[in-house]
Amino acid sequence: MDEKAVIDLKGQVRGDVIAPGDKRYDEARKVYNAMIDKRPAVVIRCADVADVITAVKTAGKENLPVAIRGGGHSVPGFGTADNALVVDLGRMKGVRVDPVSKTVWADGGCTWGDFNHATHAFGLATTGGIISTTGIAGLTLGGGIGYLTRGAGLSLDNLISADVVLADGSFVTASEKNHPDLFWSLRGGGGNFGVVTSFQYKLQPINDIVGGVMLFEVEDAPKVMIAYNKYITNAPRELGAFFAWQIAPPLPFIPKNRHGNTFCAMVVCWTGPHDQAGKAIAPLREAAHVVAEFVGSMPYPAMNSMFDGLVPPGLQHYWKAVYVRDLTDGAIEAHMKYGPKVPVVNSTIHIYPINGAVQDVLPDATAFGHRDARSATVIAGMWPDPAQNDANIRWVKDYYAALAPHSEQGGYINFAAGDDMNRVAANFGSSFDRLRKLKARYDPDNLFRINQNIIP
Ligand SMILES: Cc1cc2nc3c(=O)[nH]c(=O)nc-3n(C[C@H](O)[C@H](O)[C@H](O)COP(=O)(O)OP(=O)(O)OC[C@H]3O[C@@H](n4cnc5c(N)ncnc54)[C@H](O)[C@@H]3O)c2cc1C
Repeated sequence: MDEKAVIDLKGQVRGDVIAPGDKRYDEARKVYNAMIDKRPAVVIRCADVADVITAVKTAGKENLPVAIRGGGHSVPGFGTADNALVVDLGRMKGVRVDPVSKTVWADGGCTWGDFNHATHAFGLATTGGIISTTGIAGLTLGGGIGYLTRGAGLSLDNLISADVVLADGSFVTASEKNHPDLFWSLRGGGGNFGVVTSFQYKLQPINDIVGGVMLFEVEDAPKVMIAYNKYITNAPRELGAFFAWQIAPPLPFIPKNRHGNTFCAMVVCWTGPHDQAGKAIAPLREAAHVVAEFVGSMPYPAMNSMFDGLVPPGLQHYWKAVYVRDLTDGAIEAHMKYGPKVPVVNSTIHIYPINGAVQDVLPDATAFGHRDARSATVIAGMWPDPAQNDANIRWVKDYYAALAPHSEQGGYINFAAGDDMNRVAANFGSSFDRLRKLKARYDPDNLFRINQNIIP
């Protein structure tokens, strides 16, 4: 962008307009994944919807692609790009809870921590991610898998409406009644269709939960995986649970001499009556000998931030994902070959359930195209030292290559890597063809292409 265009923008925008040469530029171009090093044409830290409209219109006029940044957690770093105009919503964090209708409006720059802080005051919550620093925007638009999914559905299943700035700079509120095609595509189509400035969700009465983590020996992992796989499909819906591989951090509930050892883990979150938690968790706890356990009653936001310390900003990230229908012997073998080799304490592999309330919704009711999967697996490589990039990326790729033959072709778009563009159609699954038609209608010039891109 030339200097005059930047000066013009500064005259119109209430937030910050940060171009190369500005002392804030290096900070403003950063995203969560420290491996991403892009030089956008300009970063606009929007203060309000008017700023977003100006930003999108300017991108169209200047012929610049838009990189939308909500919480900035995209592993491929879609919240920034070379020569792009970054619409950064990080300053837009308003949340308004209506406790009577049990609904909430939350701005596009909120994290799940911001969201839960506001809703917990009313004893309410909805499905968010596992980590509190992830943005509600990217997570919801791609799906939204978390502790509450089995009872409340995906995050996007709880969406009632969304305020959106479209590629031509116009503003609409999309819902089942207004712009239903757009509303359909927002629920699973990622950031392909416009900038969502505010989301309206329904909420559930969820306050304190019983949750935490249990660690098992590596050699017991097949038993734990099988018990989990067998139980979780029909377990009470108040139970959220996922399988993980995890190196033990130096925490007091883990015997000192086991710190740094690798374990397999079950992470649980029970939202039902607390005196029934033990019974609900028992089939997982009894799968094998529990080496260490930290499970107890806590406010839901505490559960939602329990693992934040393992994934501070500034790590390098490289992830791969697959949907899985059956946990076959071949899949277990692949897990047993690579899971115990998890290289650092920050890295992990999660197997999340896709069942319960997710499957109450008809497969074509939203653009989330994989409701028939039984689980979503992510191999999440996260490490502090850039000198270790090759070794960590190799581990993720090898693990993925071993698991792929036992999995669906597609993976969850929010867990996909930047080099997964050849899997876009499979990742969007059964929704892809309709998404493509709607992309041609709402964004024919592909202004919003810094994402798991649906080429119109
Ligand atoms: C540590 C960590 C933990 C995670 N845990 C989970 C989890 O438990 N469950 C889960 O489902 N996912 C999880 N994810 C994946 C997460 O869903 C994606 O990374 C998601 O894209 C993050 O959203 P964001 O707003 O923070 O990202 P951003 O990088 O800001 O945005 C990602 C993409 O989303 C789109 N987008 C963002 N904001 C908007 C907006 N306002 N309007 C339109 N499009 C927008 C854009 O296309 C952008 O390219 C996790 C990621 C990380 C790094």
